[in-house]
Amino acid sequence: MAVDTPRTSDAQQALTAFGELLERQGLRTRLVSTKDGPAVRCWDPRRGVHVQEIGHDGAWLTWRARRLTSETSRERDLQVGAGLVAAQARGADVGTVPASMPASMPASMPGAAWVKLALLAHGVAVDDSFTAWFAGETAAVRRRNFYNSPVHHHDAAALPQEIRLLHPGQVPVTVAVNVYGAGEWRLVHDGTQPAVWCERLGITWPVEVPADLGSLRQDPDLAQLCNLYGGSALSFFSPRSCYFFSDGTQCRFCSLAGTAAQTAYANRLTPAQVGAAVQAVLAADGDRVNQVMIVGGNERNLDHGFRRHVELARAAAEAVAASPASGRVSVHLVTMPPADHGLIDELASVGGVHVGFNLEAWSRSAFEQIAPGKAADYGHDRIVEALGRLVQVVGAFRAHSILIAGLEPAASTLEGAAALAAMGVSPIINAYHSDVHSALGLSVRPSYESLVQIAVGLSQLHRRYPIQPYWKGCGRNALDYEASHGMFAGGPLALGGAR
Ligand code: SF4
Repeated sequence: MAVDTPRTSDAQQALTAFGELLERQGLRTRLVSTKDGPAVRCWDPRRGVHVQEIGHDGAWLTWRARRLTSETSRERDLQVGAGLVAAQARGADVGTVPASMPASMPASMPGAAWVKLALLAHGVAVDDSFTAWFAGETAAVRRRNFYNSPVHHHDAAALPQEIRLLHPGQVPVTVAVNVYGAGEWRLVHDGTQPAVWCERLGITWPVEVPADLGSLRQDPDLAQLCNLYGGSALSFFSPRSCYFFSDGTQCRFCSLAGTAAQTAYANRLTPAQVGAAVQAVLAADGDRVNQVMIVGGNERNLDHGFRRHVELARAAAEAVAASPASGRVSVHLVTMPPADHGLIDELASVGGVHVGFNLEAWSRSAFEQIAPGKAADYGHDRIVEALGRLVQVVGAFRAHSILIAGLEPAASTLEGAAALAAMGVSPIINAYHSDVHSALGLSVRPSYESLVQIAVGLSQLHRRYPIQPYWKGCGRNALDYEASHGMFAGGPLALGGAR
């Protein structure tokens, strides 16, 4: 069918409408005149400068890349370009918003942070349309199960570890891909871009999957040692064992033994390995990493295990300090406190480190049930005491402690978070994720309502205290970063019993 060439004003009108669509996706746009006629130039401020141009060929919108500055930018450009092609294939009228594009999200949509809570409460089911698309995303991070395994009845390696919920005008919200089976929150791909979709609530939320680090993709030996966590944390786990499993007193949420048995990553790292890995990754991918994270299981001799962890953190800190990323990339350690609290002072010589001693639960009874090994061999009070000393050594709010939302009443989690903050400890609130190999597994889930209650209370604490999130935008099960950015605002989603 012949199509008349539209008048310039028609093309401008179509391009203006499409520019508004892109703005709602979080892109910035400008209508420009080119030798080929009017066009919309757009760029994604979350990705740095990379401009692409959409023109009008008389019948359809046309897309062409103008300038590409990175692999990640190219992926984003291709997504937008693919969206145009798919919209045309569906017969979408030029200049109108394709009805099924996730980008048609209305401006009044509730915040992405609330969607994160829904996904953490219920998990996400994975649609075939998503896995088919993801199979071709060879640069994306795939789940590697270093130490946890929250994917049930699905091939974990065929899934991303996390997604980012895109929200115009706000920082992307990172959330874990926890797959518990059927549910009404689904990870889909509609032919234009990936999204999470809740049909009953009419919510389609555009997402992106983080690209893996080029250094890890290209060097299998390096990838044996570390992992990209949450899209921006270079993560080391050592040792990949914990004596509590030998005693049958492991934390009831922990899946370390079963997960480690099924994957072949390094089980124990030396300071030299960590230092060299940090150096190599920051040299190649320094702009992609904002923190180095060290965590691991426990040795029966807690003092010995603590010293080993301090040496790993020191090696990481020295490699960061010697890199161009010095001052921008921080080092974070989570470990058991030593039996001898005097050893905590050794952290004073590890420049700018953040350190966590995890309580897991605030109520003493929940602590004893959830973490029987910690309760029997160390005790809640002693961990709190060690945290007090840690604040003295590393500085207020650079000391951290996890409380797991969903394994005790929300009021108890909030009471603990408030008590920690008053001590100068930054509470970390992690929503419980059900790991395949853990004792608790799917037997318990935090409700959306309880997570909302905790998120609101935590946000109030963040306004009162200079709490520092442990994860700088990469906490896939944590609520802290969103609380610190005031993103639990405007009222939660009315889920009405969403599952
Ligand atoms: S202390 Fe608990 S959570 Fe940490 S590795 Fe051991 S069993 Fe797992």
